[in-house]
Amino acid sequence: MRDAYAARPWLAQYDEGTPPDLHFEVTDMLAVFRLSAAESPERVAVRYFDSALTYADLDRLSDALAVHLLDNGFQRGDRIAVQLQNMPQFAIAVLAGWKAGGILVPVNPMYTERELTTILTDSGATAVVGLERLWDKVIAPSVAAAGVGIAISTSELDLQTRNDPRVLSVVPRTKVADLLEITARNEGRTPPPVEYAAGDIALLTYTSGTSGIPKGATNTHGNVSFNAQGFRDLVGLPRGSRIFGLAPLFHITGLVSELAGSLALGGELVLVHRFEAGAVLDALLETRPHFMVGPSTAYIALMNHPEVTPDHFSSLELAYSGGAPLPGAVVDAFEQRFGPYIHNSYGLTETTAPATSTPRHQRAPLDESSGSLSVGLPVPNAVVRIVDDEGNPLPLGETGEIVISGPMVVPAYWGRPEATAESIREGRLFTGDVGFMDEQGWVYIVDRKKDMISASGFKVWPREVEDVLYGHPAVREVAVVGVPDSYRGETVKAYVSLRPQASASPEELIEFAKQRMAAFKYPRSVELLEELPKTATGKILRRELRARG
Ligand code: AMP
Repeated sequence: MRDAYAARPWLAQYDEGTPPDLHFEVTDMLAVFRLSAAESPERVAVRYFDSALTYADLDRLSDALAVHLLDNGFQRGDRIAVQLQNMPQFAIAVLAGWKAGGILVPVNPMYTERELTTILTDSGATAVVGLERLWDKVIAPSVAAAGVGIAISTSELDLQTRNDPRVLSVVPRTKVADLLEITARNEGRTPPPVEYAAGDIALLTYTSGTSGIPKGATNTHGNVSFNAQGFRDLVGLPRGSRIFGLAPLFHITGLVSELAGSLALGGELVLVHRFEAGAVLDALLETRPHFMVGPSTAYIALMNHPEVTPDHFSSLELAYSGGAPLPGAVVDAFEQRFGPYIHNSYGLTETTAPATSTPRHQRAPLDESSGSLSVGLPVPNAVVRIVDDEGNPLPLGETGEIVISGPMVVPAYWGRPEATAESIREGRLFTGDVGFMDEQGWVYIVDRKKDMISASGFKVWPREVEDVLYGHPAVREVAVVGVPDSYRGETVKAYVSLRPQASASPEELIEFAKQRMAAFKYPRSVELLEELPKTATGKILRRELRARG
């Protein structure tokens, strides 16, 4: 059969001047950083409340931390876990880890001792940089259980405040080595130069854990530097542009489309310690960013905040959403009320952030029959195929599993040959996402393979029911799951949270969906919740909702 996917007709739709394939000379993330640092050392690299670190500061502080790691026996290929919120020390730790020859293992700061210990043990980490606030309860016991030799703590207090003796006298200090003391002590020392080949591992990113046991994806320097430089070239923003970090840095979206992308662009990354809609809105007004990326749930939270105004988003030249389903109704409402059009993009930890994206100056089409918004066109060099259960490519327009290959796909999972053989075969990632591609190359996600509900033998994809319910004016967020049913085997249930001051009864919402979809699809029950349970990256925890029944 003609392989319509390999021909990639959609590349012509990218902005004129963008080559159909991108080729980057530099395939080492540390070298990408060095180029930007050499170009404008005095430009701000990371802004965090009142503190601003220039590229030269980042270089100097990460040198000093790398020297400390090496002094303490850290070796080439060792793993360094980082359990921090969005803060400048995150960037310092990442660069220091690479400068010391290491592999970075980002860890969600919401993880408990048990979860952290699993990751430290699985990755065999020999160093940890963690939040002082989490030290006694989470990090110290995990470090002891996993036998990690180098432990470094740091505090959320901003860098300037931390050096203020009045603050130092009142903040309790941990007994372990402190990141800022280490960098002060080793100021001026530089580690021996390190270079990476494209195939060397840069990150071990444990997948979000909305399902199953976390596995470490081995994002190589080639993977990360490709998507970081691709980001730089495809967003088309001037060097030095200000990027707002809406997504957490421990997740691949934050690491690549915020931190690595900003470093490649010579950009200024604005960080807020964690996603809290009010704090984010204040920071938007203070910093006036040009670009922002985050999960759809972050946009939903911002647009429902009582104090939000169009002015909060007036500096944005471009807004992107990625990492979670983005309903068309949210894009429309956001654009009508505030101006910016939210560009949808799609990727996985295993594709080192975006694999498909809506090019700037373009609008993602809606699929007429399902109402689903396209997740974009494959990014240059990515080949997206839709395959049947045997892995054979299906004709364009047919629904099947999404399979991705290209320079952004990880070669393997860390230490898990069986999991690798199951999902990554000959450089092709079997995503577990079900979708289709239209004649122009736009990709649509129908759902996760395993989220499909089988009601009386009929296939129901939760996404479609959710997209319909998002069209109800009172609905803020919705998640649809399958729950056991003695008659239908499984039946459709919707969990809904309502907008502030809005009201709608479960019966009204059921009726709303019933009028808009086939009888086997509409939810048979609706439960109203204050908030839907979510991961820290903004993905709705379906597993938890399914368990509620
Ligand atoms: P993670 O590895 O945590 O980034 O999760 C990747 C998964 O998030 C994908 O397999 C999709 O199921 C989902 N996802 C990411 N981006 C989108 C999007 N734009 N629309 C729908 N689902 C998405």
